[in-house]
Amino acid sequence: MINLLDLNQAKMAAFFTEIGEKPFRARQLLQWIHQRGVSDFAQMTDLSKSLRDKLQQHAVVRPPKVVLSKPAADGTHKWLVEVDSGGCVETVYIPEENRGTLCVSSQVGCILTCRFCSTGTQGFQRNLTTAEIIGQVWTAVRALSQEDGKHDHHITNVVMMGMGEPLLNYDNVVPAMDLMLDDYAYGLSRRRVTLSTSGIVPKIYDLAKDSQVSLAVSLHAPTDELRDQIMPINKKYPLSELMAACQAYAVVNPHKWITFEYVMLQEINDSPEHAKQLLELLKIVPSKVNLIPFNPFPGTVYTRSSNNRIHRFQQIVQDGGIVTTIRKTRGDDIDAACGQLVGQVEDRTKRQARHQEKLAQS
Ligand code: SF4
Repeated sequence: MINLLDLNQAKMAAFFTEIGEKPFRARQLLQWIHQRGVSDFAQMTDLSKSLRDKLQQHAVVRPPKVVLSKPAADGTHKWLVEVDSGGCVETVYIPEENRGTLCVSSQVGCILTCRFCSTGTQGFQRNLTTAEIIGQVWTAVRALSQEDGKHDHHITNVVMMGMGEPLLNYDNVVPAMDLMLDDYAYGLSRRRVTLSTSGIVPKIYDLAKDSQVSLAVSLHAPTDELRDQIMPINKKYPLSELMAACQAYAVVNPHKWITFEYVMLQEINDSPEHAKQLLELLKIVPSKVNLIPFNPFPGTVYTRSSNNRIHRFQQIVQDGGIVTTIRKTRGDDIDAACGQLVGQVEDRTKRQARHQEKLAQS
């Protein structure tokens, strides 16, 4: 059985040809699945009965299972979705005045062990399939529209910024982003779909050819010496190579700038000197900087920079001519910071397992 959530338009057209149907049916199916949120072929009333029967035989529309749905007081909403292996990933919806952003995960866990990241401490299980990635969007659109009866009005932006490094799951992430951009599916503009990477340099060049969505880079340090310490991936792809790839991306993609994310860690990377080094580093790329107040998690050695240090840092970068924003902390009451909820659920599961083991031994 093929899960149709795994297919972008090109693959869906190939599937229809394979089962002896006209390839244009792909667009009809995409609209039913992604725009109307329908998973039951019997409800797809403008398809012939024989085609619906054929689909029942060969295909399913199977989104990942939601195991926890947690709204926060500020409108942020978090879903914990279970994937086939039994692992969980997080999807977070963040409403703002003029937009609603959905933060989507690409892997179960992450291999990259960035020191300031809760996900990085939880190990890596596997890549998500295309169905599991776009299934997070499908699930969120349906859940939000069921709340007020309006379909598809809530999510205006998608960021591939949840658990995992999306460029290490390139072959599944790109078709999922195709669906986000496809007018027959979610119809978002390239400006409104952002992929955030820790800097997998060769894949940034590939992305420039294959997708050209907006690019965000998790930078977090302005020198190799410091970045090597807090992001081990920097030893493989140092800043000179990363910035050259960003420069190349900026030339071919139609956006105004690349966003550089910078987590603010008290007395680690947040001095005025660091801000000046950052300005120097970014001068070759059209850039925007997003400062992220660190969200502490159990076991971390870091603390959040004080507001004074964050604002002083912002002022210096801003005065250097780069638009610099400070990310608002949202959804604190539902642990909306990357990786926290999964960590808690897994802790609880391990505690229960230990408890059961003890009971069995006694
Ligand atoms: S910050 Fe991103 S790339 Fe780094 S460990 Fe966390 S999820 Fe992985």
